[in-house]
Amino acid sequence: MQTWIEEGENYILKTYNRFPIVIDHGEGCEVYDTVGKKYLDMTAGIAVNSLGYHHPKLTKALKKQVDELLHISNLYYTKPQVKAAKLLVEHSLFDKVFFCNSGAEANEAAIKLARKYGKQKDTHKTKIVTLKDSFHGRTCGALTATAQPKYQENFMPLMPNFVYAALNDVESIKTIMDDQVCAVLLEVIQGEGGIKVADQSFLQEVQALCKKHDALLMIDEVQTGIGRTGTLFGFEQFNITPDVVTLAKGLGGGVPIGAMMCREDVAVLVPGDHASTFGGNPLVTAAAKVVLEELLEENLMGHIQQVAEHLEGLLSKLVSKYDVVAQRRGVGLIQGIELRVPAAAIINACLEKGVLFVAAGSHVIRFVPPLIVSEEEVGCAVQVLEEVLKSLA
Ligand SMILES: *Cc1c(COP(=O)(O)O)cnc(C)c1O
Repeated sequence: MQTWIEEGENYILKTYNRFPIVIDHGEGCEVYDTVGKKYLDMTAGIAVNSLGYHHPKLTKALKKQVDELLHISNLYYTKPQVKAAKLLVEHSLFDKVFFCNSGAEANEAAIKLARKYGKQKDTHKTKIVTLKDSFHGRTCGALTATAQPKYQENFMPLMPNFVYAALNDVESIKTIMDDQVCAVLLEVIQGEGGIKVADQSFLQEVQALCKKHDALLMIDEVQTGIGRTGTLFGFEQFNITPDVVTLAKGLGGGVPIGAMMCREDVAVLVPGDHASTFGGNPLVTAAAKVVLEELLEENLMGHIQQVAEHLEGLLSKLVSKYDVVAQRRGVGLIQGIELRVPAAAIINACLEKGVLFVAAGSHVIRFVPPLIVSEEEVGCAVQVLEEVLKSLA
């Protein structure tokens, strides 16, 4: 295992701080490293592996697709892409899908759509509003939308005409909104930003402001979408009807796929405006089709809601039992506990004990397990976390 780590350090550009293990394979909600140690996984490749590891249907569909057609360009139609798009549209309030390869790219597509939508009304209607502590990706447009100085400061100047409001602060967005705003882009639960849940009243106020100023309401569901919160989209929990939504992470169950969805009346992008070589290729859309079918037709949604309720109960107990645990936040299977100490040492100790967690910001331990996780498995994970917390107390 050590050799792989050393060679990784030698050859791979160091843009990540990695845990010193080499993951080899996985089954269900567990992964194994190259020396055979087993880990229970509460990260799911950061909310990606919605069906866990080595899921029989996903594996079978991908193997079949490999035999038929890996890739062809968007010069042609393919059955998997049409099927995945149809499933998404038929189960949402959106009419059209644009496929790309990542969350950042999905947001880039949304940003371009918003700019064109605005400019068709008025050449100066190009302003985009996002929220402080948001996370929308690392490409230059998405990074401009990501209102966190630590991600932006080394890369100035960024894209012009982005302005930032604060989550759950209606006044902060009211003062910014005017007729030059073409879109508001936000997460209903800030994921990387620390599992911060938007208030329904805030979101409804933002929606009203968007209507008033003819700006698109665009929800970044890259982390919260595709069943994570117990509904297909996170925004469904907040009684709002956005114009645009962006997806990625869990949509492909582990293959790189992103998507931007919009209603017909705002679908202003036409041939020549936007494109992606790999976007929605047969391999990745064959995977998305399986994930969507599992969620929509196999009652995985009911399972998520049930396990989530159990997990919430366990985490709330940690809050009442341990001083160091300040708060539980989240909806469905995107949960976080905020600590009064940095999360890193606790996450390291859990890894030693065979459970994988990822932080959200510096002080939050995030739970984004595979959506197929069982009550027993989240129970085990919380138990290990509790042992570590106990040793601190
Ligand atoms: C992860 C994430 C992104 C970026 O996705 P990439 O696939 O890494 O580009 C964008 N928005 C949200 C809310 C995310 O959680």
